[in-house]
Amino acid sequence: MKKEGTIVINRDWCKGCGICVAFCPGEALVLDDKEKACWAFPDRCKRCGICEMRCPDIAIELVEK
Ligand code: SF4
Ligand code: SF4
Repeated sequence: MKKEGTIVINRDWCKGCGICVAFCPGEALVLDDKEKACWAFPDRCKRCGICEMRCPDIAIELVEK
C-alpha cells in the first residue's frame, strides 16, 4: 500500500450513509457533526481506495500525489 495520496470528499454529494466509514480498514474516516464523511485520521489511512470504490455517490476520492 502506498502512503501517499489525499482523500478528497465532495461534501455536496456526500449523503452521510457511512458506508466509507464502515469499510475503511484503517478507521481513518468519521461522519462529522453535519453527517458528512471526514478524513479525520490521515495517519491511519492506508491509501487503499476502498472508500472510493464503495461510495455509491462518487463523493470520496483517493487523489494520488
Ligand atoms: S460512502 Fe460516500 S456518501 Fe456515504 S458517507 Fe461516505 S462519502 Fe458520504
Ligand atoms: S483509502 Fe482506505 S484507509 Fe484511506 S480512508 Fe479510504 S478506505 Fe480508509
